[in-house]
Amino acid sequence: MPQFNDTFTNARIADLRITEEERLIETLAAQYGYEYINLRGYTLNPNALGELPEAVARKANLVVFDRHGNTIKIAVRTPNQPEVTMVLDSLTARKLTPQVYMCSSHSLNHAWERYKDVNATTAKKKGTFDFDEEDIAQLSANIRQIEDVQSTMRTVGAVSNARRITETLELAFAGALALDASDIHIEPEEAGIRMRYRLDGVLHDILDIDNYIYGRLMSRLKLLAGMTLNKKLGAQDGRFTFSIREREIEVRVSVIPAALGESIVMRLLDPSVASFNIDKLQLNDTISRIMAIELRKKTGMIVTTGPTGSGKTTALYAFLREVHESASKIITIENPVEYRLEGIVQTQTGDDYTFASGLRAILRQDPDVIMVGEIRDREVAETALQAAQTGHLVFTTLHTNNAVGGFPRLINLGADPRSFKSAINIMLGQRLVRLLCSECKRQRPATANEITIIERVMIDHPEPPAMVRPISIYEAGPGCAHCGLTGYKGRVGIFEAIQMTDAVEAALLRDPREHVILEAAREQKIPSMTQDGMAKVLRGDTSFDELERVVEFPRATTDVQKT
Ligand SMILES: [Zn+2]
Repeated sequence: MPQFNDTFTNARIADLRITEEERLIETLAAQYGYEYINLRGYTLNPNALGELPEAVARKANLVVFDRHGNTIKIAVRTPNQPEVTMVLDSLTARKLTPQVYMCSSHSLNHAWERYKDVNATTAKKKGTFDFDEEDIAQLSANIRQIEDVQSTMRTVGAVSNARRITETLELAFAGALALDASDIHIEPEEAGIRMRYRLDGVLHDILDIDNYIYGRLMSRLKLLAGMTLNKKLGAQDGRFTFSIREREIEVRVSVIPAALGESIVMRLLDPSVASFNIDKLQLNDTISRIMAIELRKKTGMIVTTGPTGSGKTTALYAFLREVHESASKIITIENPVEYRLEGIVQTQTGDDYTFASGLRAILRQDPDVIMVGEIRDREVAETALQAAQTGHLVFTTLHTNNAVGGFPRLINLGADPRSFKSAINIMLGQRLVRLLCSECKRQRPATANEITIIERVMIDHPEPPAMVRPISIYEAGPGCAHCGLTGYKGRVGIFEAIQMTDAVEAALLRDPREHVILEAAREQKIPSMTQDGMAKVLRGDTSFDELERVVEFPRATTDVQKT
């Protein structure tokens, strides 16, 4: 019997498999009408390789292996894949001419190994391969209002479909940046696919997208954000960044399956321009006075409450900035870190780093000030309250409708109300209202109904502003260039607060229902956020309608008695 050498045999079998695959691809290439190439032994052009990020190349099962002028050579394992088409489209859009070859998986693996050698930073810089940042900057400079996005859209895509997709994408971002949109929404509906921007908290229709562009746009955005292309039934999250001139824009992408197709929301974050300042919050005199004292305290908890998008994180950041001057060590735990703050240690929750475990770890770092992004469970509530009682100033948020709702919320989470007096300093509540455009707002007399509500709201305002009669208010004008035809420009918070006093504590321990706590807090003489908002209506900063959109007006006393 001849002796078998296993190692030798296995190597021989592997070689035969490789040879067999090469032959197969060679045959297939001829059938499909492509040229065949074996990249083993081919000297790859590192500049060509850098044309596509490694992740994109691997996902689409291809590699750019050579380049001469604007002609680039691409080796593909399976040419008829959507990922491949997309990469080809994006290269064409960059005015490159791709020449497609077919190659084996073995060739691809061999070529991808070379990515290690390619300067990682060049590849990374080109991570935004799907659109031209300079194009976006130029488009953006020419956009003043929503109408400009629409008219530019009508000129898009005369050249080719690939160009159309890229230009639509560029325009979507250019418009959003020019108009200061916080989010871009793309939603399939019965009538068509709509693209909308969120401007100052309110969604505006921008334009309709046809089905072809929608499909390609979705795939391209998913690829950019590092999502799976074919997963159409589940929700996915991703992100990518690009830079426009000096600004670095981070895009958080969320895709959910909806009845008529996938719906995508992109949140635009611009950490470079984030400047937080307590003056920018435009707190009313009462709360401003109180916060000046609160922010000088060394221990205790400052809570801001409000629904999503009420500006509570912005307020917390502004407060953190304020204490930053004097305090030595500030650590945050957030989900996610929305803006970077200088001189502050910011951490983000992850798989093993939860709010609870993270907060315990942070306490071991001996901080003076801690910010906990949100309290959502008992463990975090108790740890945060404890930290506030043991020499730390703790900032946090609770997801409730108003300031008073924060107390029962903590109790419902399982926190002990007997610890509140020594732990909590103040509970703030807030909402954001849009500011009327100063260029086109219009003054008019208040209607009888408006006057009734204004009086009902202001009657127990602790320091009611002087009301000039007959009462006139401002409403949104027709819109102008200054406000991008929306009638509003910018937003401001309306605030309320409850300080932790003996009376509030007594109420909490006796009967922690909201109206009981509110009654106990009356002596603090702090206006409610509805009152704060109404003062802004009377000053002409915002409109009656806008305030009504974000707060609930009190009903007539007779109605209240009925319920
Ligand atoms: Zn205007």
